[in-house]
Amino acid sequence: MISNQFQSLFEIYKNKAMHAMMLKKIGGPLEWTELADPLPGPGEIRVKVSACGVCRTDLHVVDGELPDRKVPIIPGHEIVGRIDLIGAGVEGLGLGERVGIPWLGHTCGVCPYCRGGHENLCDHPVFTGYTRNGGFATAVIADARFAFPLGEAGSDVSLAPLLCAGLIGWRSLAIAGEGEKIGLYGFGSAAHIVAQVAKWQGRSVCAFTRPGDVSTQAFARQLGAIWAGGSDELPSESLDAAIIFSTVGELVPIALRAVRKGGRVVCAEIHMSDIPSFAYRLLWEERQLVSVANLTRQDGIDFLRLVPEMNIITKTTRYPLNQANEALADLRAGRFEGAAVLVP
Ligand SMILES: [Zn+2]
Ligand SMILES: [Zn+2]
Repeated sequence: MISNQFQSLFEIYKNKAMHAMMLKKIGGPLEWTELADPLPGPGEIRVKVSACGVCRTDLHVVDGELPDRKVPIIPGHEIVGRIDLIGAGVEGLGLGERVGIPWLGHTCGVCPYCRGGHENLCDHPVFTGYTRNGGFATAVIADARFAFPLGEAGSDVSLAPLLCAGLIGWRSLAIAGEGEKIGLYGFGSAAHIVAQVAKWQGRSVCAFTRPGDVSTQAFARQLGAIWAGGSDELPSESLDAAIIFSTVGELVPIALRAVRKGGRVVCAEIHMSDIPSFAYRLLWEERQLVSVANLTRQDGIDFLRLVPEMNIITKTTRYPLNQANEALADLRAGRFEGAAVLVP
């Protein structure tokens, strides 16, 4: 009898707990942690996580390379899951609905950037998995207005990398302009999605990898790249634009050298090593060097609406949630093609 009571109390307790891989100290490792199940406040939803992609930004959070260091924190901002609790005042979302939760977790709505349609540059933003808890967990709380309904097409795991790699890639490609010939420097999670988007748009893609990384070059060709080679090589014709999905600052002058007059180089990473000084002639003739920061909700709406039509196939490697450290280590070492996805 007592043991039965204990058992039922245990069951209740179990239902009231969530689990997460939490960063408690900058530098890691993430620690398997049990926490009380969070409750959504007004305007928020609770989502039972079914998949969460692993992004290079998660490495920057763990390594303390971004300015707002906050611990303890649960990383992860490529979240797919189903709503299991809805806070007061939430409209347009239902229990059980599948949603995606991206990096942009909240914006102030009143700063000049928010009011000017540039909420990606908000002065007082909240970022999922960086300044608020993210998806390396069994459950997550999100501001309902920043969650994207995902519908029922596609598996949870295959959709997860779209929530950051896909979205940032989409925004980067838009900022790269209308050019036909696009170079992608660094062929990881984002580039493997952008290559497919660019091809669908009728553009040609040249993929630049670490010199000698023939397996990633072959992977890029499989995804439709018309040329793939080392970042130390120049394509046969100049590029209209280049996007750098790499943290290596040395690639900036290299990419500038590869773009035509009036061409654009887009830096898509949140963190980069210092850019070495370079001759002004690399920028001369109206070449442009720009960066892409975060996303707007409109980016998400535009991109996710087109995903079924674009027939994007994400290449994913699954890890159980409690192996988040292994996933991060494999990402750091470049041990898989495409994207890593954690599954609780
Ligand atoms: Zn704002
Ligand atoms: Zn990301």
